[in-house]
Amino acid sequence: MSATGSFNAFAMAQAQFDKSAETMGLDKGSRALLRMPMRESHFIIPVHMDDGSIEVFRGFRVQHNDARGPCKGGIRFHPQETIDTVRALSMWMTWKCAVADIPLGGGKGGVICDPHNLSQREQEAICRGWVRQLAREVGPVRDVPAPDVMTNSQHMLWMLDEFETIHGGRYPGFITGKPVGMGGSLGRTQATGYGVVYTIREALKELDVRPQDTCASFQGFGNVGQYAIELYNQIGGTVTCVSSWDQDEQTSYSLAKSDGVDLAELRSVTDKFGGIDKGKAQDLGYTCLPGDAWIEQDVDILVPAALENQITAETAPQMSGRVKLIAEGANGPTTPEADAIINERGIFVIPDFLANAGGVTCSYFEQVQSNMNYYWEQDEVLGKLDLKMTSAYLAVSQLAQRQKAYMRDAAYMLAIERVALACKDRGWI
Ligand code: NAD
Repeated sequence: MSATGSFNAFAMAQAQFDKSAETMGLDKGSRALLRMPMRESHFIIPVHMDDGSIEVFRGFRVQHNDARGPCKGGIRFHPQETIDTVRALSMWMTWKCAVADIPLGGGKGGVICDPHNLSQREQEAICRGWVRQLAREVGPVRDVPAPDVMTNSQHMLWMLDEFETIHGGRYPGFITGKPVGMGGSLGRTQATGYGVVYTIREALKELDVRPQDTCASFQGFGNVGQYAIELYNQIGGTVTCVSSWDQDEQTSYSLAKSDGVDLAELRSVTDKFGGIDKGKAQDLGYTCLPGDAWIEQDVDILVPAALENQITAETAPQMSGRVKLIAEGANGPTTPEADAIINERGIFVIPDFLANAGGVTCSYFEQVQSNMNYYWEQDEVLGKLDLKMTSAYLAVSQLAQRQKAYMRDAAYMLAIERVALACKDRGWI
């Protein structure tokens, strides 16, 4: 598989894998096995639409590798979904679960559709149709789906209901992202943001910097950004700038306050999509700056927690000389060209699939609790999450120190090594 001119996520995922495999000197058999998904399902879902017509949707499930445990990964509903995007995302899930050292493999699924143009009933029919096509390939011991782009806990419950109807029992461990009280886990809302800060805390220890002596700038004030700021404040850090998307103006703005943003105050002027009302924020004493200004701030820590492709060859040179740490809350915020600049400047990076692994780790806890049908208190969930994230961080940073490797490369090497070992131990290669 090679890139054909236009961006191909799977070609990129394979190129990243090939580079790490080469550096590690991975054997030929492991390379051949791991650069392709082990299984793929392509199918159609016929739906009786509300207007009486029949529409046929295309669905996918890709299971990249399950040597370390059942596959895990979300289901996306998107009009531009492609099989190569799903393949790439399933491969990245394999590495994310391995780096977090949870006993799960990588999977991803999708349906080509646009929920904006579908009624709730039509969406329910797609969810049930997806499960009917895959009922024997997925399940608590095979492959555990979750919400992703444009799917939520309601979609997960419809899918669970269909799965349980087909299999004749209650199997809450089939799927994660369920609401608390219907098999969901406490702590899931905080998990990704808190996980980012557990890794920041450990990195600062290694850099010999006290959190209370640091300040940070954030891109994004949604689920990840808000909970990361909450815990970062609790460990003593100060956030001086936050950027978010302005839906009315179709552009982004940064809101700055030199003595530190007040999280509760800022939340009170933010909508449910994480968009901050800039007028109200200015009334509260915040300075409104252009959207890109978050990256230029005179801070110790940058946390991209919005979108992919934000720290680029163009924006990376705008980072202040004070920046010592970048913690990637978002998936794929940094381009390879920017990585080279960051590495050269000696800025420490906590790469995305390590920094934001708190989300999938808590989904794993949800699956464990669902399989036991016994649910933990929030403190217990977050305590276990801290332990897992701290261990994952230390394993990667120790490897990076031993091999004098860039943190992103070390994370890849550790993940690939663990998955390759599981394949070998099982006798697959
Ligand atoms: P969200 O939708 O809750 O919030 C996104 C935030 O980014 C909002 O504040 C929005 O205003 C802001 N934003 C959007 N475009 C922007 C732009 N151009 N400039 C500045 N801000 C912009 O999303 P989330 O759940 O917080 O996820 C954020 C990132 O983290 C995504 O890359 C996601 O894939 C990744 N991630 C999320 C989770 C999770 O559990 N939520 C887990 C792993 C990775």
